[in-house]
Amino acid sequence: MTKKSLGYVELEWICPNCDTRNPGSRRTCMNCGMPQPDDVEFQQPAQEKLIEDDEKIAQAKSGPDIHCYYCGTRNPATATTCSQCGADLSEGARRKAGEVLGAHNDKPAEPLICPACGTPNAPNAPNCVQCGASLTAAQPKPEPLQKPVQPAAKPASSSSKSSSMMGRIGLVGLVVVVLGCIITFFVLSSRTEDISGTVDDVSWTRTVIIEGLVPVEREAWRDNIPVEGVVLGCTQQIRRTQDQPAPNSQEICGTPYTVDTGSGFGEVVQDCQYQVYDDFCRYSVNEWQAVDEAVLRGNDFSPRWPALSLRPDQREANRDETYRIVFSTPEGTYTYVVRDPTAFQRFQPGSRWILEVNTFNSVTDVKPAN
Ligand SMILES: [Zn+2]
Ligand SMILES: [Zn+2]
Ligand SMILES: [Zn+2]
Repeated sequence: MTKKSLGYVELEWICPNCDTRNPGSRRTCMNCGMPQPDDVEFQQPAQEKLIEDDEKIAQAKSGPDIHCYYCGTRNPATATTCSQCGADLSEGARRKAGEVLGAHNDKPAEPLICPACGTPNAPNAPNCVQCGASLTAAQPKPEPLQKPVQPAAKPASSSSKSSSMMGRIGLVGLVVVVLGCIITFFVLSSRTEDISGTVDDVSWTRTVIIEGLVPVEREAWRDNIPVEGVVLGCTQQIRRTQDQPAPNSQEICGTPYTVDTGSGFGEVVQDCQYQVYDDFCRYSVNEWQAVDEAVLRGNDFSPRWPALSLRPDQREANRDETYRIVFSTPEGTYTYVVRDPTAFQRFQPGSRWILEVNTFNSVTDVKPAN
């Protein structure tokens, strides 16, 4: 977070001797003349106004005031000797500073209604203009700083709870059924019978996948696009959020609030973050993708790869070979597939084999019949 200063406002303090509200810049009570004690805190006024007076701003920026070690008088931060007794202020105590007083309130304050006679008074009036009663008690407390409130978690209603329970039972049932099916499948497919047969026919298929450079559309931040990519279009999107200001960013700030500077003035600040925008682009780039395949088939024992005629923008990719053997048996015709060309050579036409056939009528293994 970056703390952003919006300016300074004059605070107030209430004289403990006569209840008079005094402007923060006054170090002694304007009604009874009592110096402000060091334990009397500054408060936000009913309506805060950013000050424009250079002298007051300089005072606000100079730091916390100093209370004289000997007589307690409040002196400006820049003073070296006490204005009251002349004592050296290097031993004096600086006022507390940095405390958050509340949300910055620049809206016009409501008139103060006198608790004694009901007369409306100016928002910062110390005493009723009509009857002279003290208005300190009637002063509204400054609004506390609003903290972002997390939305309360919605309690699950009983009906949705029971329906989710039903859903859980349904899910368990489904899992049981699926598991049952899988187990049945494995039991049935592992239950085999042996059938003797002879090789009736063989065939082989060899396939080569051909890849070509094909333009494809991708998306990326502009600085992540490969050099050969062609930009098709970009939009500005939030790439990151950071605490420090940056070019091409949007400032997101919280509610302004007032911080006690210890000088009788408050600094109005905002906590800000910066959403940094960047170009997010669609671009076109050539990538290798399967565009064709060359296939060669035969019925002999000399499998060959298909001859390739590749264009300059094409290349050979995966190769695949399958060998199919057809057996004739008393139970009918069975097909068996191998992928190894050496194993394929053993299936000479007319040779005799024992076929292991499962419940689904698939050949799971073959052995030469002795
Ligand atoms: Zn006073
Ligand atoms: Zn003094
Ligand atoms: Zn009154």
